[in-house]
Amino acid sequence: MLYLDMDGVLVNFNESYLKYMNIETPWQDIPGLVSDYMHSNDTETFWKNLRSFKEDFWVNMLPYSFTPELIKLGEAVGFRFLSSPGKGNPAAYSGKAKWIEKHYPQHLDKLILAQSSDKHLLVKSDKDILLDDTTHNITKWIDAGGSGVFFDAIKAHNYPYYRVSITENIMSISSR
Ligand SMILES: [Mg+2]
Repeated sequence: MLYLDMDGVLVNFNESYLKYMNIETPWQDIPGLVSDYMHSNDTETFWKNLRSFKEDFWVNMLPYSFTPELIKLGEAVGFRFLSSPGKGNPAAYSGKAKWIEKHYPQHLDKLILAQSSDKHLLVKSDKDILLDDTTHNITKWIDAGGSGVFFDAIKAHNYPYYRVSITENIMSISSR
């Protein structure tokens, strides 16, 4: 089973956040988390902003150009969405479900919401693959016995060969 992270893998959180905050920096110029870029020593402000956002922020988050490719890969090997709704905003829970309903209504039943620290609890074997942009999540997943594949959205956006290598890696883990 392939577990697809949403923010930073299927959903362009950085671009969506910048747009919501009326910041004109291109998302490709931010190599990591937008919270580090905008609030480097003040993550509390970031989380405060996020808690104040209404459901429409999550519903209207922008997919990446390559998101349909990743969904196709998921359909080929079997997948779930595995997303963290963050800290303390119920609007993120419903907003993420509505994002899937908007873009992939046929897959709404595949949404699993879990805090990042709990994602690894889903691992049953090394054929359970997590595709995620947070190294800490990948490490915990591997420590729990799963297969972790780190994902870099900027590389995926810029280099088709990077997407090919991710796809081949996941196909080969799934078929062993
Ligand atoms: Mg993520």
